[in-house]
Amino acid sequence: MPEMDIITSLKQMQEYVLKRRGAGRTIALVPTMGFLHEGHAALLREGRKRADILILTIFINPTQFGIGEDLGKYPRNMERDKVIALDAGVDIIFAPTASEMYPEGYQTYVNLDELSHPLCGTGRPGHFRGVATVVSKLFNILQPNVAFFGEKDYQQLAIIRRLTADLNIPVEIVGMPTVRESDGLAMSSRNSYLSAEERTAALCLSRALSLAADCYRSGELSVQVLRDKVMKLLDNEAYAAVEYVELCDRETLESVEQASDETLMALAVRIGKTRLIDNMILGKGFPCKERC
Ligand code: AMP
Repeated sequence: MPEMDIITSLKQMQEYVLKRRGAGRTIALVPTMGFLHEGHAALLREGRKRADILILTIFINPTQFGIGEDLGKYPRNMERDKVIALDAGVDIIFAPTASEMYPEGYQTYVNLDELSHPLCGTGRPGHFRGVATVVSKLFNILQPNVAFFGEKDYQQLAIIRRLTADLNIPVEIVGMPTVRESDGLAMSSRNSYLSAEERTAALCLSRALSLAADCYRSGELSVQVLRDKVMKLLDNEAYAAVEYVELCDRETLESVEQASDETLMALAVRIGKTRLIDNMILGKGFPCKERC
C-alpha cells in the first residue's frame, strides 16, 4: 500500500511549494484540525478536482482555543487521517508543530472587526483572531490558488472570505455544503465526545433548523416567532443548553427583524459538555432527507 507523505517542517514545506509553483503547478488547500470525517473528505475530493497539487493541513491551532476549552483533549488519529487523505487523492499532508507555527517571540495576529463579534465570537472571545491568524499564515506558507472551507463553520467561512479580500491574498475561497449523518446531525470531529444518549439528544440541532425551515416555508417571517419555536424545541431536550439561536444577514451577520431568503439561522448548543454548532440559509431550506 502506498504511504502518505507528511511534512512537519515549515522550511521543507515552503521548498515543496516554491518548487511546484515555479514549475507552473496549481495548488489546492484544505486546512483542518484532523480526526477526519466525510465532511473533510468532501472538501478534499473537490480540491482534488480543482488543482494539480492537493495539500491537506492538520494542525490543532492553539490560538483559536480559549481557556477551559478542549485543546488538550481534541481528538486525534493520524493513522486513520492518512488513509482518508490517500483515498481522497491528497499529495501531501502538512502537519506543523505549534512551536514552528508560533515560535518564541511570536506577536502578530489578524483581527477582524464586525464579523468576529456576533454568534460564536460572543461566547468564544479570541477564537476568530486565532482562526484568521492561522489561515493567513497557511496562505502565506502554502500559496494556494484555491482553498476549501465548510459552510458548517459559516462565520469562519465569512471571516476567511473577508480577510482574503481585505488583505489582497490571491486565493479563491470555495465554501462547501455541510455534510450530515443520515439522521441529520452535522458531521464534526467533536461528535466523538458524545455518549449514546447525547448523540440522540444532539439531533435537536438539526430538528430545530428543520422546524424553522418548515415554518419559514409556510410563510412565517417574524424572527421572534421563528426563534421562539426553535427555543421551545431545544428547551425540551434535557441534555441541551442553548448558547445562541440567531437569525442574521448571511453577508454581514448582523441581526435581522424580518426573515428572508438571505437570512442565516445559526445555532450553538451544548450537549452535555460538548459544544455543537449548525446553521442554514432560510432561502435554501434544510437539506436533511429524513424527517428531522
Ligand atoms: P475542522 O477540522 O473541524 O477545523 O474543519 C476543517 C474544515 O472542514 C473546515 O473548513 C470546516 O468547516 C470543514 N468541515 C467540518 N465539518 C464539516 C461538515 N460536516 N461538512 C462540511 N465541511 C465540514
